[in-house]
Amino acid sequence: MKKVLFSYSIPLLCFTLCSCAVNAQRGAYPNTPPEVSPMPMKPEMTEIWEPEVVVVTPAKKLGDAPSDAIILFDGSTMSNWVSQKDVNKAAPWEIIDNDYMQVVPESGGIQTKMKFGDCQLHLEFSAPDVVEGNGQGRGNSGVFFQNRYELQILDSYNNRTYRNGQAGSIYKDHAPLVNAMKDPLSWNTYDVIYTAPRFKADGRLDAPARITVLHNGVVVQNNTTINGNTYYIGLHNYPEAHGEDVISLQDHGNKTQYRNIWLRKL
Ligand code: MG
Repeated sequence: MKKVLFSYSIPLLCFTLCSCAVNAQRGAYPNTPPEVSPMPMKPEMTEIWEPEVVVVTPAKKLGDAPSDAIILFDGSTMSNWVSQKDVNKAAPWEIIDNDYMQVVPESGGIQTKMKFGDCQLHLEFSAPDVVEGNGQGRGNSGVFFQNRYELQILDSYNNRTYRNGQAGSIYKDHAPLVNAMKDPLSWNTYDVIYTAPRFKADGRLDAPARITVLHNGVVVQNNTTINGNTYYIGLHNYPEAHGEDVISLQDHGNKTQYRNIWLRKL
């Protein structure tokens, strides 16, 4: 037994002494990693210079589009959108005060002309000015990424509904972390980082979509896994492989308002 203890304690002692010596040598730079490479490292050996990082000019006001954004709606025209009922027709919603667009109930949803995959999306929305209905019937709309995966828009200000169906939820998939909804006369912001799903060559899912959402600057989805197509009834899934696709906004019969929508491809 003594022999066993001895054989463990000597190497341990050596290791402790060596560690102390190394730490003393590191002195004023306690975060410097121990030198484990075969040759001595210099600071510049871990610096990467090329290619130079692309410059993007941020907007003067936080929330406005940076220089490399695609402007999807700036209040003046809906030329980047079409009707979902007939994609050959113009978007049927109305522009008000050259500032925002408003859902025309029963006219159908609208979708972008362009298709997207991974992206950063900013949009602003407001619940209808007149508060009507309850639960899912109050200020319901939604943003569908790749025309499939819904980030819910709802008037969730003093309006209970199922937690995975309120504003900031991935509809019937994930509840938001908190309820950051403003009152119906105020504008809300969504800032979204969306990663599209990946599919294998044979069409099976390789990696599900992921989404991070800030609602009025508050994180409500933190790199959340999206479990598949949004369905009103039934469990969500990925029924088929797909590539880039349109972003659509839902007409759920309520006069939800939208403004300042822009996107950056990632
Ligand atoms: Mg909805």
